[in-house]
Amino acid sequence: MNDYQLLRIPGPTPIPPTVQQAMMKTMIGHRDQETKELLQRIQPGLKSIFGTKEEVVTLAGSGTAGLEAAVVNTVSPEDEVLVVVTGSFGDRFAKICEAYHLQVKRVEYEWGKALIPDEIKTYLTNNPSIKAVFATYCETSTGVLNPIQQLTKAVKEVSDALVIVDGVSCVGAVETKLDEWQIDVCVTGSQKALMLPPGLVFIAASKKAWNIIEKNYQPRFYLDLRKYRSSIQQDSTPFTPALSLLFGLEQSLQLLHSEGLETVYQRHQLMKDMTRAAFRALDIPLLTNDQDASPTVTAIKPDDFKADVLRKKLKQDFGLVLAGGQNHLKGNIFRIGHMGYCTPADVLQTISCIELGLQQIGKQINLGDGVKAAQVTYLQEGSS
Ligand SMILES: *Cc1c(COP(=O)(O)O)cnc(C)c1O
Repeated sequence: MNDYQLLRIPGPTPIPPTVQQAMMKTMIGHRDQETKELLQRIQPGLKSIFGTKEEVVTLAGSGTAGLEAAVVNTVSPEDEVLVVVTGSFGDRFAKICEAYHLQVKRVEYEWGKALIPDEIKTYLTNNPSIKAVFATYCETSTGVLNPIQQLTKAVKEVSDALVIVDGVSCVGAVETKLDEWQIDVCVTGSQKALMLPPGLVFIAASKKAWNIIEKNYQPRFYLDLRKYRSSIQQDSTPFTPALSLLFGLEQSLQLLHSEGLETVYQRHQLMKDMTRAAFRALDIPLLTNDQDASPTVTAIKPDDFKADVLRKKLKQDFGLVLAGGQNHLKGNIFRIGHMGYCTPADVLQTISCIELGLQQIGKQINLGDGVKAAQVTYLQEGSS
């Protein structure tokens, strides 16, 4: 069946039918009252997924446009910045900073491990001229959830540096409290936990960050966050917004808030635990330890079969799409996305198909062991 896809990559994710439908609404004028009212209805829901009372601005672009906007608005050439690199998205943040001629310092961690806040604190104590610390919340390339709350606390204890967070693959699926934790800038995209197609990026910033953004002389035009903030304060946008995506966003926020954010976060925890229990039962190694593991994506590092052979077989037989590894992990791992429009029922289906795929590529397993472990996990922590 050609158009059947079980999309289990860490974004883009499947889209709920009601969101799909909402995006088919008749086009409206971007300067009309309908658009103003739409933006007004969306704004509170966006603020609450970031845990902020400040404005959240929405730009049309992929997630990377949001990362670039975070860089270009907060710092200027020759500024010294620290990028914490735990995988390929941390590396991307560093490359963006380099493209803007910042003095980029990196603290690197082995791929598959989380950053250690105390080490960053020590680094900042020894390097007091750092203007901003860039970090990835969920490092999608390895399935690590970095301890952003603790990182922010550690940074604030010794430094005035801004804390700038790439939350693209987890905001909306994992608790994020911008105001309370004192994160300065946080970016997310539409195609991950928010259950929308790619194309929108959302940026929230602290009062402290907005003060710096307002005064920053670094040239920028489309990505100038000042324009977006002053427009949204009047329920408007500086340029034509991606209206169809906004129709969908209103509905996806509605789904998240009617489920309740706490319940959404618990669902993601449960899907992570089910997935990890399954591979443990099948005796197939996970890339990360339990403490570092992200609720939105799980990386598996097989030692006796080829990850990409399994992925190909699953795509062919079931339309099940898993992600491969990036950079030096290419070919060595596969990654399962369990975020956004995904439930424990989907996890059971995914694991069941993977077991069949494993059997077919010649890996010796007991059919059902993984599914059973996931079921048991569900009964222990998920059923109410
Ligand atoms: C998906 C993702 C992005 C954005 O990538 P785009 O391809 O530009 O949308 C950025 N950071 C992380 C951590 C991601 O997972």
